[in-house]
Amino acid sequence: MTASANIAVLVVAAGRGTRVGGDQPKQYRRLLGVPLLTRTLESLAAAAPGAHLRAVIHENDDAAYAAALGALPCGGAGWAVPAIGGPTRQQSVRNGLEALAAAGISPEAIVLVHDAARPFLSGELVTRAIDGARSHGAAVPGLPLTDTVKQVAPSGQIHGSPDRASLRTVQTPQAFRFDVLLAAHRQAAESGEYDLTDDAAVVERAGHAVYVFEGDEENVKLTTADDFTRAEARLLGNLADMRCGQGFDVHAFGPGDHVWLGGVRVPHDHGLEGHSDADVLAHAVTDAILGALADGDIGAHFPPSEPKWKGAASSVFLADAVARVKARGGLIAHVDATLICELPKIGPHRDAIRENLAKIMQIAPSRVGVKATTSERLGFTGRGEGIAALATATVRLPFEAS
Ligand code: MG
Repeated sequence: MTASANIAVLVVAAGRGTRVGGDQPKQYRRLLGVPLLTRTLESLAAAAPGAHLRAVIHENDDAAYAAALGALPCGGAGWAVPAIGGPTRQQSVRNGLEALAAAGISPEAIVLVHDAARPFLSGELVTRAIDGARSHGAAVPGLPLTDTVKQVAPSGQIHGSPDRASLRTVQTPQAFRFDVLLAAHRQAAESGEYDLTDDAAVVERAGHAVYVFEGDEENVKLTTADDFTRAEARLLGNLADMRCGQGFDVHAFGPGDHVWLGGVRVPHDHGLEGHSDADVLAHAVTDAILGALADGDIGAHFPPSEPKWKGAASSVFLADAVARVKARGGLIAHVDATLICELPKIGPHRDAIRENLAKIMQIAPSRVGVKATTSERLGFTGRGEGIAALATATVRLPFEAS
């Protein structure tokens, strides 16, 4: 964490990069179910609290960007209206800088320019970037090369072996005094140069000294499908605490013409009785998730004694349990549920129920099982007095030694 007064953050997310495969630019591709850009925005906002935050996006990406923002725990609060990018990265950054100028960012402010495809930046790296720019006006993170470097002709013949001791690969965030960076970009554009691949090159071209500070091996750029696979393995490796929770619930039939199951309205010749909407399936799933967290049960968090939960949609309870998983830095890997009743028939509604539960939990429907059985006319479910539901939830959390 760093004090971020007079800091602006510009995330370059306008690229069309599809080398990774699929039909959408890589910054919107999902990494363990969350858009890559969402992870990058979350890391930046955490590393530079209080900074002016703005992305540069492609003109066609309004909806994808809104979805990425919406997936942030804060819902996107604090992120300024995005700037619209240009045909090259350099032009996209220029547009973002002009948006910062229009927003009144001061010339002495430090601007961090960061690639959307680098989600793993740390607070320490951001602090080094800000310190570097404050000392020198322009500073970029660099890493020494571990492999020997060769200059190679198109024919494959080696033409030279530069001394790697003086070479660095550079990353982002690159940090600059705002007036230095804006002037350099305007100058490059006026002279018709649009293809410089990083901001250090734009500032170097303007004759300003740029310094390298220590980068971070973990701050990788995701480009290929393999990069995404490795990044997912890394994220999953951090979620080594595997939990399995169970939930069970029963509601009795009463007067009515429908029941709520997993947030889906299922027509029936009775309703279910309860303080809330009596969604027996949503309640069992909610308790399964809370059980995996060892965080009480639905009645502890939403007491039936409180009038405000009377008639409440049970999706509220389930969404709250999901938020508790996210607050712990975890994810829901899978949910499986069984409804026990003679009627209504569940089969025709099964997929709608799975999809709705998945939507509330913000996971893929392929991670939600919903099954149904009768109890062969035995017991209270067999006599048609109500519906019982069982659920299990598999939750992965960061391992904490306690
Ligand atoms: Mg209940």
